[in-house]
Amino acid sequence: MSVFDDIRDVARRAAYAAALPNLLLFKSKPSKSFASRGNTKIDEIILHGTESKGTEEQSASYVASAANSSHYFIGRTFGVAYSVVPEEMQAFHAGNPKRHPGVQDHNARSIGIEMYQRDISMFGGDASKLDWTDWQYETIAMLVYDIRRRRGIAADHVKGHVQVNSVDRADPRRFDWVRHNRRVTELSRTLGRLLGPGFAIDLDLPSPRILLP
Ligand SMILES: [Zn+2]
Repeated sequence: MSVFDDIRDVARRAAYAAALPNLLLFKSKPSKSFASRGNTKIDEIILHGTESKGTEEQSASYVASAANSSHYFIGRTFGVAYSVVPEEMQAFHAGNPKRHPGVQDHNARSIGIEMYQRDISMFGGDASKLDWTDWQYETIAMLVYDIRRRRGIAADHVKGHVQVNSVDRADPRRFDWVRHNRRVTELSRTLGRLLGPGFAIDLDLPSPRILLP
């Protein structure tokens, strides 16, 4: 199942797409790096920052070609968005390759979304230089809303990589979770009004804390 697949009626599908237009811009950039989820149910979405030293297209190609992978990639520039691994499969974005005690492998249960951001070393270690574009905030909100609605994922199961592996990951750095949650809430209310209560997702859970670098 992926975006729009579960809305059969053409007029409703058009209304849904009009409210979530950025989802129409995702292109396919398939990776061979994935595995079965076994019987594990998808109940998490994990957001990442790529921490790249190259361009966004180089970063997208890396995500699609390396042993590490993710389900989606969102660049900084309008229109740069890729679907990389089918949601039904497990991608390799939130495991525990260094076998740190206490860090769990979240790959089987989660959908991973990489957002392009240059590595902090490119800014001399100055975290205040790290940001995200309006395109990224809009697109990640639309994608997270859509996945949460389709899969019934709770608000507090949308996490940053740092929250599931704080030992050696810090991404997505300086992501504004309050802005993100506000936008998902707006989308949910809009779609609920347009298409019915089944399109309003649960909004009562507390927002995740703002992640500082
Ligand atoms: Zn990450």
